Amino acid sequence: MEHRLEIKVKDLFGTDIAHCTDEQVYVALLHLTKDMMAEKTANTGEKKVYYISAEFLIGKLLSNNLINLGIFEETAEILKKNGKDITAIEEMELEPSLGNGGLGRLAACFLDSIATLGLPGDGIGLNYHFGLFEQVFRDNKQNAQKNPWITKDSWLTRKDISFKVPFKDFTLQSAMYDIAVPGYESGVNQLHLFDIDTIDETLVHDGIEFDKEDVMHNLTLFLYPDDSDEKGQLLRIYQQYFMVSNGAQLILKEVKEKGQDIHKLYDYAAIQINDTHPTMVIPELIRLLTEQEGFTMDEAIEVVSKTCAYTNHTILAEALEKWPIAYLEKVVPHLLPIIRELDKRVKEQYKDEKVAIIDKDNRVHMAHIDIHYGFSVNGVAYLHTEILKSSELKCFYDIYPEKFNNKTNGITFRRWLMHCNQDLTKVIEDLIGSGFKKDAMELEKLLQYVDDDAVLGKLQTVKKQKKLELKEYLFKTQGITINENSIFDIQIKRLHEYKRQQMNALYAIYKYLDIKAGNKPSTPITMIFGAKAAPAYIIAQDIIHLILCLQQLIDNDPEVSPYLQVIMVENYNVTKASKLIPACDISEQISLASKEASGTGNMKFMLNGAVTLGTEDGANVEIHQLVGDENIYVFGKESDEVIKLYETSGYNSRKIYDEDEKIQELVDFIINKELIKIGDPMNLCRLYKELISKDWFMTLLDLKEYIRVKEAMLRDYEDEKAWTKKSLVNIAKAGYFSSDRTIEEYNRDIWKLK
Ligand SMILES: *Cc1c(COP(=O)(O)O)cnc(C)c1O
Repeated sequence: MEHRLEIKVKDLFGTDIAHCTDEQVYVALLHLTKDMMAEKTANTGEKKVYYISAEFLIGKLLSNNLINLGIFEETAEILKKNGKDITAIEEMELEPSLGNGGLGRLAACFLDSIATLGLPGDGIGLNYHFGLFEQVFRDNKQNAQKNPWITKDSWLTRKDISFKVPFKDFTLQSAMYDIAVPGYESGVNQLHLFDIDTIDETLVHDGIEFDKEDVMHNLTLFLYPDDSDEKGQLLRIYQQYFMVSNGAQLILKEVKEKGQDIHKLYDYAAIQINDTHPTMVIPELIRLLTEQEGFTMDEAIEVVSKTCAYTNHTILAEALEKWPIAYLEKVVPHLLPIIRELDKRVKEQYKDEKVAIIDKDNRVHMAHIDIHYGFSVNGVAYLHTEILKSSELKCFYDIYPEKFNNKTNGITFRRWLMHCNQDLTKVIEDLIGSGFKKDAMELEKLLQYVDDDAVLGKLQTVKKQKKLELKEYLFKTQGITINENSIFDIQIKRLHEYKRQQMNALYAIYKYLDIKAGNKPSTPITMIFGAKAAPAYIIAQDIIHLILCLQQLIDNDPEVSPYLQVIMVENYNVTKASKLIPACDISEQISLASKEASGTGNMKFMLNGAVTLGTEDGANVEIHQLVGDENIYVFGKESDEVIKLYETSGYNSRKIYDEDEKIQELVDFIINKELIKIGDPMNLCRLYKELISKDWFMTLLDLKEYIRVKEAMLRDYEDEKAWTKKSLVNIAKAGYFSSDRTIEEYNRDIWKLK
């Protein structure tokens, strides 16, 4: 019998698979998969969750959709029979550029798990044409370019749904595009992405520059357009309101179409607000209910408050959105009477100005709207939620203890194990059966093999294979050659001072100097970085510059390069993550304690058998508890101490620098004449000064202990068997971090869908 793919290929291209280009095969598979997802039943139920998020970092979809539809293997098979390789076909797909980092990736994992658990739940976001910028390295610096990803044949399906979104000076008509989200051997949900037909891609000329004021033509060009000036901030408000107004109108339309009573909206819909970007959905829903549905203000507020739930993702004060009233007046003046009413009610009840919605500088605290007028506030890891309750949001916790709850983040094992590491999946399946694919906790069955040399040998073989594949990939994509017999030490995540890539770079300097001094490591080390930095974040650009300069310096030093390599992967994204993570030995999770809300990269690495080198921060704390002291390397000051240092202004980097010659030597190397020759003195000097005069995220605080523990870790690697045992325990204990578990908890405690 003819396979559906063969029929599709004939339909589209009038030939057979073997005679198609890879591009044609990809297009045929795309359409076939879309057809199959359309044929599948949608997840339904009386109540539905709407996950609203500015980002969905979904990654390439072909293979994951094939896996979730249960046809990956038969597809790979038929391609092979026709001389095609599924990994080559995967290369044809462009990665959707709809997200930035962990928060967006979490949203994507959640959509996968919601669908997999058979829960009715859709995502709501924006269809950014150029998304997050593409990173290109030039002269050892990051260049930002537009990242077009929407091609003629894509996962987007235009729907017949459109809403009017009113702004102060004009009204925009939206267009809705859907991306189907198939659950793993389960029903299908949708990701709804709103757009405008008047978008004009030709507005973007050089790099990512464009006219920020031409909102009717630029609204959905970029995710997180530069907001270092007023025009940029206004554009972000335009984007946010456009997203939530469409979302609110869609939700009311769906509830009404099902014949449900909007006076009991909370019985039929739960709205999860992912960070503060979608906060305006609260006043917008209240506006729609009062202006168009005849609700009184009291009733509208009550109904909306019982429908909306808020997830906090950060304690970094600078990341909590506060919009000046004057800006909101310029964009959405019709929301202000409602926001002022919400503020008035808070001020009548609570005198503490820390919990006010509008502060004395006339700024609207978006998170405060969510907390007062939502029914749930959750943090994303145990430690993070505790810090919210005890310090960052303490004044709110005192008022609403019942609203606060923790939901430790998770990752979908379909993408981060079954797809990105098919070899490891096979080894696991041969040992413990396939139950872990549906119930991740079954991975614990692997523990019975910790002393089984044959099993440890298989894990080593898989790791070696993944290192070889990464080597080939890096050569093909960046022309870089790495040593597959070295230790792969990887730090990949957005660039931010709190994540402390600069501390890792100082380790590279330490190791470089140590090797120069004649201490050659028994096993060579490959330090891999991958990170995009927000274009307006100066120090982050300087840190990238330092790493790229070190890469060049070490590369050109024949004394050191056989033992140490530093490389930076260009344009870190989900596709790159999927190649890097399976090959990793040492997972760098070294944020300043209290600053990383959860992290999910840490979970992906653990699941793929890397051993964590980390601080007691975010979900590292839970990883530590699960695997025990023997199977993780922990260092650094703990969150209590760090929080105290901030409260007392007790950290003084200059003092640490002055009092420690070894630290001086490492920091001074940043402006060493050899490095200055390679790099840009302005960037390097600025970073040097930042480290000794400010160092807001306390790099020097933990530097020495970091070096000491990392050295111990590298020594322990030499005992291959002992190391592989640690690796096995990490895999076996990763089940807790399945996003299926996280979503079950969201549903049990917050959404209550069934
Ligand atoms: C998982 C992931 C992240 C989040 O990484 P953290 O280490 O948790 O910050 C960011 N970007 C991509 C592409 C990811 O896959």
